[in-house]
Amino acid sequence: MREPVWLVLHVPFSWTVNVVFEFDDNNYIQVWESYDRFAKLQICRRIQWSYHYGRVMAKDELGYATQGSPDDPLEIRIDTCGGEPHLHYRQREPHYSQDQVRGLTIKSIEAIEFIKTVLKHRSTKKTFQKLMGFKLSNGE
Ligand SMILES: [Zn+2]
Repeated sequence: MREPVWLVLHVPFSWTVNVVFEFDDNNYIQVWESYDRFAKLQICRRIQWSYHYGRVMAKDELGYATQGSPDDPLEIRIDTCGGEPHLHYRQREPHYSQDQVRGLTIKSIEAIEFIKTVLKHRSTKKTFQKLMGFKLSNGE
């Protein structure tokens, strides 16, 4: 685990968060979020995000785990690449949209909940379906 990197783009209404947890068994969690303000309002919202857990496949210049190719192996990823929040499970394809996932509202998952679920998965070996209560349209 290392310190989060806070990158403030436009003080104070727009920012991104990138947090990485590296584990001894060569897996990592990467949480990336982008926030922006509602038009004409003094409040902000999460507009894009990616919560990823899987094997470390790339390192940055300091030797820390970082995002590699989109096709790299993964255990689970919830992201907004290409628009609506969706789920990747055990591999990049397919992208499970909300109508292909039962029992879980994908966009309701926040970073802290994702991190806690991965930690629980690692300590209990329970599947993500069981921990998060979802079923996929392909029967998984
Ligand atoms: Zn995606």
